[in-house]
Amino acid sequence: MLHPVSEVATSGYIHSVETCGTVDGPGIRFIIFTTGCPLRCLYCSNPDCRYLEHGKQVTVDELIAEIKKYTSYMKASGGGVTISGGEPLFQPEFVREIFRRCKELGIHTALDTSGFCNLETAKSVLEFVDLVLLDIKSFEPATYTKVTGVEIKPTLILAKYLSDINKPAWIRFVLVPDLTDDTDNIAGLADFIFTLNNIQRVEVLPFHKMGEYKWEELGYEYKLKETPIPTSEQVEKALNIFRSKGIFTL
Ligand code: SF4
Repeated sequence: MLHPVSEVATSGYIHSVETCGTVDGPGIRFIIFTTGCPLRCLYCSNPDCRYLEHGKQVTVDELIAEIKKYTSYMKASGGGVTISGGEPLFQPEFVREIFRRCKELGIHTALDTSGFCNLETAKSVLEFVDLVLLDIKSFEPATYTKVTGVEIKPTLILAKYLSDINKPAWIRFVLVPDLTDDTDNIAGLADFIFTLNNIQRVEVLPFHKMGEYKWEELGYEYKLKETPIPTSEQVEKALNIFRSKGIFTL
């Protein structure tokens, strides 16, 4: 479990950046992919972000200098900076400092997280976050653990806290046939989301295998080799479960 932020970090580890992202938050976004993640999601498309030390060390100053080059695109499109990973809250001091500097520049900030963190750690980072992209990878505890290798509890605690402070959030759920597509699992998640006050939308992301080659290159066993990608009907069925609760979906 991660610990509260106690100091300012002037550098940290990243895998890469994307300068014109369009799916991880509103508008055109500068996306930073950090390394280090305590989860082991079976469908992870960034297994090369698993270990902190597999990233490259960069300073916050370097990142901010790069971000400044794209400020006009971000602002004109209603975009901003998203930090994804890996799990960004694995490096809370570093991520907090990037977001703090972005807010000084008037840039919209989004945190893409699994929510597997110490709540006090998250609180200190959230102070500088405008939008949270919270990945809830399943609702049934056993399925969640099967998918991720960790417990769901910290994610639900964070979700409730975000609702309590009315922090805007998008929920993202990956639909994997024969793994996360059980109707009760999705309906349970929809019921839970319905109790929250801050959710702007739910995104159902169809499972894909674009990261499979990375697993092979890294020598990791990819257990979803035989799993099919979901059909559009399966995706629609999942979306309809959320819609039936009055939840806005994309
Ligand atoms: S939380 Fe994200 S980066 Fe970490 S294992 Fe899961 S999918 Fe991969």
